Order: sequence, then structure tokens, then C-alpha cells
Amino acid sequence: MWVIVMTKALYMDDCYLKEFDAIVASVKDDKYVVLDQTLFYPNSGGVEHDTGTLIKEDGTEFKVVFAGKFSGEISHEVDQPGLKPGDKVHGVLDWDRRYLLMRYHTAAHVLSGVFSQETQAQITGNQLTTQKGRIDFALDNFDREQLSGYFEKANSLIEKDLPIKIYAMSREEADPMVFKLAKAMPSSMKEFRIVDIEGFDRQADGGAHVKSLKEVGPLEFLKAENKGKNNRRVYFRIRSESQIQ
Ligand SMILES: [Zn+2]
Repeated sequence: MWVIVMTKALYMDDCYLKEFDAIVASVKDDKYVVLDQTLFYPNSGGVEHDTGTLIKEDGTEFKVVFAGKFSGEISHEVDQPGLKPGDKVHGVLDWDRRYLLMRYHTAAHVLSGVFSQETQAQITGNQLTTQKGRIDFALDNFDREQLSGYFEKANSLIEKDLPIKIYAMSREEADPMVFKLAKAMPSSMKEFRIVDIEGFDRQADGGAHVKSLKEVGPLEFLKAENKGKNNRRVYFRIRSESQIQ
């Protein structure tokens, strides 16, 4: 019998790994594959999933078209049947896509940090793709000029190239500010993964981020929308989408 374990999320320890080896733990409907460990970030926390390839020992390639989190496991949707429990696979990320998502995700930290410092507004959500980012926050009033000013502030922080450190912190050590983006942290969690833009902003967070702010590149304010009372939606994009590394 194959014992299913919780998938080890390798991207938590090193956001810059591009390839990995794993063993197939389970396969559902010939296309939903759970591995013992993975680098594929699942669609979650408002950040789009990774894509890439799983290569079986005989060389057969399975395209990963979607990755999601289901009952605590990371499930990879592949484009064809043929994988079974116990198979050894080599996984390769579509790195250009992942790296751009890391830049967007880190940009969202910078903007959320600036918004909450400047307005004390609560961040209520975000949606990050390879095309654009969206941040929702609870605020009654804003004007375009004000928001442009916040983007200028964010861009000057990025220009300063602050380092980003990732480390563990116990529940006792964690101050409430590290949870401003992380809703509903399970009370059973004793330790949190902290993403720390040094000297600026700390978040409890399980995602993939770049290691220094300059990698994000300059941000462009696209538009802001009113989504009902006390709910503001701000869209942005990374001005240059070329690879910096
Ligand atoms: Zn994050």
C-alpha cells in the first residue's frame, strides 16, 4: 500500500530552485498527480500557479498545466495519462513564468506595506498574474494623486534594493503586523515562515519571493476602482517584464 504524505513544498526553503526529483504518491482520474515533494507553487493566496514539466525515467514528458492545493496536498494536473504511484519523476519549472510571479508577489508586499503605512487601511485581498497585479484594501476615500504618490514611494524603496530574508518565527515572537496579509492562520500553527523586506515590512507568508527588491523592477499604477463601500481596488504592473537575472 502506498502511504500518502503531505507534499513537501520545496519552494518554501529555496525560491530559486528550478528543478527537482520526486516520487509519485497518488494519481486521480489519470491526470491529478500528487508527489512526495514539489517545487510547483499551487494556485493560492491570490497568486497564480506554476507550470512546467514532469519527466518520467523512460523520458516521457508530462506537461503540468495547473497546480492547486486540495486537502493539504499539492495536486499537479498533467496533460496526459501514464503516471502511477511509485514512479520517479524529474520536475522542471517554467522558470520565466515563476520568476515573473515572484516579482509580482514581492511587488504586492511593497505596495501593501506602503498603503498600510500611509493609510492604516486593511489589505483585504490580492490577485497576482503574469500580466498584472491587483490589491484590495478597505478605505473610504482616495484620489488618484494620492495613489500615484504611494507608487512613487514604492518605487523608491525598490530602487534602494532592500534585501528580502525568509526565516521561521514562533507564535510568541510574532507581532500582529506580520499577519496583515495572512488571513486565518490556523491556531494550531506554532511556527510561521516570515518574509522580511529588511527595514521595511514583515509578513507571515508561504509564497515565493525574490531575494532583493531591485529584481522586482519599477512599478506602474494602472487604475483604481471603487468596489462598493470601503473597498478599493488598485491595479498595477511591472513596467519592464524583461528578465533581470
Ligand atoms: Zn508573499
